[in-house]
Amino acid sequence: MSTGPAGGGLEPTVCSSCASPQLTRLPMVLTDGTEVTFVSCHACERREWFTVGEDGLAQSLPIETVLARSAKKPR
Ligand SMILES: [Zn+2]
Repeated sequence: MSTGPAGGGLEPTVCSSCASPQLTRLPMVLTDGTEVTFVSCHACERREWFTVGEDGLAQSLPIETVLARSAKKPR
């Protein structure tokens, strides 16, 4: 039997700042290939990024990490 939802749905369904359910979720792939979900709150405009860790659980990604992984690397 499954112990949890498979694929997607790992991100929080309410804002971690104001607990509003009015969230926009947008799947993105960073330049380095990392699949992330961009979460934007309509109520307080908080923005967060989440990725799936090796344990299969969603984890918040610091903006610094997102920017670093989005930067184009010189060849
Ligand atoms: Zn909020």
